[in-house]
Amino acid sequence: MSQVLVVNCGSSSLKFAIMDGSGAAPILEGIADRLGSEHSNITFKFNGQKVEQPLHEHDHKGAVTAIKQWIDDHQDLNIQLVGIGHRVVHGGETFSQSVLIDEKVLQGIEDCSNFAPLHNPAHVKGINEAQALFGDLPHVAVFDTAFHQTMEADQYLYPIPMRLYREHHFRKYGFHGTSYRYISAKLASLNENFGSHNTLIAHLGNGASVCAVRAGLSVDTSMGITPLEGLMMGTRSGSLDPSLLSFISDAEGISMKQALDILNKESGLKGISEISNDCRTIETAQAAGDDRAELALNMFASKAAKHLASVATNLHSVDHLVFTGGIGENSPVLRDKICERLRMMGIRLDQNLNQTCPRGEISQLSSDSSSAKIWVIPTNEELLIAQDTLSLIDKH
Ligand code: ADP
Repeated sequence: MSQVLVVNCGSSSLKFAIMDGSGAAPILEGIADRLGSEHSNITFKFNGQKVEQPLHEHDHKGAVTAIKQWIDDHQDLNIQLVGIGHRVVHGGETFSQSVLIDEKVLQGIEDCSNFAPLHNPAHVKGINEAQALFGDLPHVAVFDTAFHQTMEADQYLYPIPMRLYREHHFRKYGFHGTSYRYISAKLASLNENFGSHNTLIAHLGNGASVCAVRAGLSVDTSMGITPLEGLMMGTRSGSLDPSLLSFISDAEGISMKQALDILNKESGLKGISEISNDCRTIETAQAAGDDRAELALNMFASKAAKHLASVATNLHSVDHLVFTGGIGENSPVLRDKICERLRMMGIRLDQNLNQTCPRGEISQLSSDSSSAKIWVIPTNEELLIAQDTLSLIDKH
């Protein structure tokens, strides 16, 4: 069967997977970490084994070279790569769907760098290196923002002078689009007439957002021009009064950019709990009686519920509520706290189903009296990237 190498380049890491489009487990997955430092390494996971090795070249090129070498060294696995799928964080208004990468597309990704200065330049680097080493294969870009390009102007515009949108494209873009598209397609496969259904999806991981989906299309989402807007997250504050930025900057004698760093990297669950950004660690502390951990979880749930209720104003009804992402899929505590705050919408969780739903599987958690079906659907962004890559290769 034909396989795709899925690549997700960050500024100092490169995650990868080799998979077909069937939904079967990847043949290989792994991560190259600490790129740019002499301690860079790469981990390969395959056949239930995990092998970690240092990189000879400490950059994205070194990582891609090591992956190619691994494939060459494992001829017995009969890997037949037909293309490479690249996750790209920001596609601006240029990209409303996945595309085959050529010079113009690469330039378009570079042009969106001002909105994603850590990510897009890293993607361009990764694409360049992958093209140099796998040049004969087609490369496809799949954008986190693309799914939300169906939002109407009254949702994506900020209420600021229009010329700032006209001249600089300052608007809400939204992220986690690949995850939302995957979940919508999954729900469509499970529900007849999904085209007429209204859905709320909560993607709750270290980064967290919500999305309202009508007839399979995104009509509103909580993240904005960057992923900082919306819910409280692992280390991000989410939405707050923008004046706070200048107060923090003045009070601490730091630049606006440093103040923004505090909102991106030192806030959220980590800032409030002063324990960790990791939900599991905070839940353990809460169970041991830590008040601050309890406060952090309550705030997280409250913000998630508020944003779900907010994006629901763009729906005619709420037929489905889906939880996904590391927290959404695995935390009965937070699912319960969020659903409890949505009782006014007729949302009713079945406590037993919530506690016992099996890890990694699609489950329904709603009680009989719930107005909406409540689901846990494990997301699989890599699979959608592989499927988009295969389908674009097919078309061309
Ligand atoms: P990312 O945004 O980095 O992709 P993930 O979707 O992997 O994040 O989610 C990571 C979050 O999921 C972490 O906060 C982690 O603690 C949380 N998580 C994972 N498993 C559990 C669990 N069993 N209970 C509670 N939280 C969990």
